[in-house]
Amino acid sequence: MPRTEPIKAARGVRDILPAAIPLWRQAEQEAAAVAKRFGYEEIATPVIEQVELVERVGEQTDTVAKELYRLDKRGSQNLALRPEATAGVVRAYFEGGLNQGPQPSRLYLIGPMFRHDKPQKGRYRQFFQFNVEAIGGASPGFDAEVIELALSWLNDVGLQDLRLELNSIGDGKCRPAYLERLKDYYRPLKSHLHADSQLRLERNPLRLLDSKVPQEQPFKADAPKITEHLCDECAAHWADVRRLLDAAGIAYQLNPYLVRGLDYYTRTVFEFYPGGASGQQDALASGGRYDGLAAAEGWPSTPGVGFAGGVDRVVELMAASGQEVIAKPAADVVVIPDGELSIEAAEVARICRAVRSVAVDYETRSLRAKMKWANKLGAKWVVLLTPDVAKRRAAQLREMTSGEQTELDWVELPTRLA
Ligand code: AMP
Repeated sequence: MPRTEPIKAARGVRDILPAAIPLWRQAEQEAAAVAKRFGYEEIATPVIEQVELVERVGEQTDTVAKELYRLDKRGSQNLALRPEATAGVVRAYFEGGLNQGPQPSRLYLIGPMFRHDKPQKGRYRQFFQFNVEAIGGASPGFDAEVIELALSWLNDVGLQDLRLELNSIGDGKCRPAYLERLKDYYRPLKSHLHADSQLRLERNPLRLLDSKVPQEQPFKADAPKITEHLCDECAAHWADVRRLLDAAGIAYQLNPYLVRGLDYYTRTVFEFYPGGASGQQDALASGGRYDGLAAAEGWPSTPGVGFAGGVDRVVELMAASGQEVIAKPAADVVVIPDGELSIEAAEVARICRAVRSVAVDYETRSLRAKMKWANKLGAKWVVLLTPDVAKRRAAQLREMTSGEQTELDWVELPTRLA
């Protein structure tokens, strides 16, 4: 039975139509170009991973579990669509033996991620990230490097007005004692906290610091700051990262409330926001160090640092700032057969494709309608075939802007169009 309603796209996903592609490609090409300038190599990992990889490193209680696209069980494996790239890239680094090569491995990936987010502007269920990872490097130099790389990308796509927020969240050595202090601070306030935050207080107290609940905001100001409770190694790393950024002339704001909720994140965390945006707005790129991630996946303990940039949001800002890449016509040349000349038209198109993009009008309609179509397409030339002329393996070449028309042999077309 025919459907009454045409089938639409799934909720929260988008088509990128041809007119939007040039800006999109520009964002991706600048990403690849800046990554290469910094000596990063491209890697592509599957969009499906074992659920375990995603879950083991994901925040069980929180977003990742709720937002995960699980696939039906296939054979013995539970699979999911990747919600982010780092876990898969770290897995590939070991499985592919990159850990045996020169360290660190500098890797980048551009691709789609999937989260069952509540759809809204800037928040999609399939979105694209530019991911950069330096795996196998513990030096603060790499932290500063990926930050500089992220900034260069944003600048190269024309976004200048940005805010970089920076924090350190310590490591397995100093964080536990800090978390006790944080709990001690929040416990007397427990009855004033939102129910979710009351749970976090014992399970994941760091997340109290980035709570968005209005009634909890005043409590943050007097909460102990982790950067004041770092161990010597983390404090030295933290100072070095800031020194390196200062030396690079990269401005940043210290944000003691910028945290990550997972144990494997260590030391540096950072986020880039559009300059005018309030703290509530979504970041354009966020990243940090994850020295505990490899071990959380069951691989040998290996340090790493990186970031994920949101291509969708960057493209939206590029468009909002008036940037436009002039779309090229789909075809430079349109071949118009006037009459039953499909075979000849296809052959002429084949000849012209040696030098130009070519589209053929195979429709049976008036010459006038065909010329109109060529115009709409933005073609620079029309190659007109009529039965008499085509018999001699010749055609009329019309230059669309001047309207000049000349007859010439098919074999002459490539030199004329080049
Ligand atoms: P995250 O992996 O959550 O740290 O996100 C990294 C970047 O990806 C963010 O800064 C956003 O720019 C982008 N991003 C995250 N989630 C979404 C989404 N649902 N839709 C579009 N972009 C997103």
